[in-house]
Amino acid sequence: MLIAGNWKMFRGPDPAAFAGLDAVICPPFTRLRDCVDAGLATYAQNVHWEPEGAYTGEISAPMLLELGVVGSLVGHSERRQYFGETDETVAKRTRAALDAGLRVIACVGETQEEREAGETADVLRRQLSVLEPHPDLVLAYEPVWAIGTGLSATPDMAQEAHAFMKSLLDAPVLYGGSVKPDSAGPLLAQPDVDGALVGGASLDVDSFTTICQTAAAIRS
Ligand code: PEP
Repeated sequence: MLIAGNWKMFRGPDPAAFAGLDAVICPPFTRLRDCVDAGLATYAQNVHWEPEGAYTGEISAPMLLELGVVGSLVGHSERRQYFGETDETVAKRTRAALDAGLRVIACVGETQEEREAGETADVLRRQLSVLEPHPDLVLAYEPVWAIGTGLSATPDMAQEAHAFMKSLLDAPVLYGGSVKPDSAGPLLAQPDVDGALVGGASLDVDSFTTICQTAAAIRS
């Protein structure tokens, strides 16, 4: 069971508040050092596929490793939506990060329109088709319509999507999309939900702590 806190473009709480929790934190680049120094398993929110070169604004796997960062998110829907991330660039980032020794949480998920059109399975199949199993690869099922909206997939919807994803690619699957202390229990209790990727609720120390404790109780 893995709980990952995605702090997005926020300062986030004092990283020391999370010391002792079995969780990883994915802060903005400017807070990576703080989180590493606090002894947290720290992931970046993105990583470039080249180890070095003229790629202004990007950060490479060796640069992250040098800082003590142990993993990275890849393909978050906000990267796909606003920054031109494609299945191909997600594949390149994932492969390079894994080859360099970083762990990866690769995010996939359908939009509201795609779900309503009955295209969820096709979208997940397409997004996963560019990835290969790896011991350090974890997937996150993040329906786009549930991220930051307060709308969460039901436990049944999450279970169905996760089971489908695992039938295509052998990897643990986290659920992400408005996970809150109240909704975490029923979602994490699903047999194919292997953890959560938490945005908004990870910015509140008490909420995030409760979600981590809920996860620990379910799998103990
Ligand atoms: C996310 O940032 O990946 C996310 C799922 O955010 P939220 O929990 O706020 O929906």
